[in-house]
Amino acid sequence: MAKKLVVENVSFSYGQRLILQDISFTVEAGEMVGIIGPNGSGKTTLLKIISRLLVPDRGRILIDGKDTASWSPRLLARTVAVVPQETQINFEFTVRDIVEMGRSPYLRRFQAMSKQDQEIVHQAMEATNVLFLAERSMTELSGGERQRVIVARALAQEPEVLLLDEPTASLDINHEAEIFQLLRRLTSEKGLVTIVVLHDLDLAAEYCDQLLLLARGTVEASGSAEEVLRGETLARVYGVDVVVYPNPLTGKPQVHVLVPSHH
Ligand code: ADP
Repeated sequence: MAKKLVVENVSFSYGQRLILQDISFTVEAGEMVGIIGPNGSGKTTLLKIISRLLVPDRGRILIDGKDTASWSPRLLARTVAVVPQETQINFEFTVRDIVEMGRSPYLRRFQAMSKQDQEIVHQAMEATNVLFLAERSMTELSGGERQRVIVARALAQEPEVLLLDEPTASLDINHEAEIFQLLRRLTSEKGLVTIVVLHDLDLAAEYCDQLLLLARGTVEASGSAEEVLRGETLARVYGVDVVVYPNPLTGKPQVHVLVPSHH
């Protein structure tokens, strides 16, 4: 179980263009942090830096106090699992094949899975409720089922850190809630550090312990949903007038965009 993940003074440029500037935050084990912000604010880039798909120009990523810069790809894959925005999969694979791929950072080349590996795969499928789909081809699944399989593959990696980029972008509200409830539960039960990029501010408020609002590559606000989702802040960052009011059922802030009248 990870104790915490620290993003420390991270800056990154694509060529001459500064994309992220001096980003710092900490996520404790068992916490789910939502990264929000307008298109192009640097959310996906930040996630790629945390997973070391991209190398920051400045700053460090620390897991349990250790700088991940020197880690081997294998050690990284055992520690950090990524659920990308769109998963490119050869869909002829069965669900079980896909989830078993999560074990590859633990196997040597051509080494078969042990009983223990199979048990971990089984548990990952159980936790995400895809066991009953195990022998089905990915082509036969709904978007929600497919996304649960990708989360199962990530869990089979036995990660300490779980990174997700808009994991429910193509799902309806029912399946969206299902995935977020699953993430919430797994984060607590397994003591994961979970970081999720998402667009939906209400969803972010409902499910995340902490929010990080990015705007033009800097942290515009961070903290609880109440601290981050403030009318003035959102108006400034998103360039629209909004009203924020407590959700009548949960008390969490809910954001209503005021559409300018065209009269
Ligand atoms: P977000 O996820 O918040 O929409 P991104 O991190 O995807 O933002 O992008 C941040 C900025 O970096 C955008 O202006 C985008 O155009 C730019 N960008 C993203 N990927 C590349 C790339 N491979 N090369 C150059 N610029 C990029």
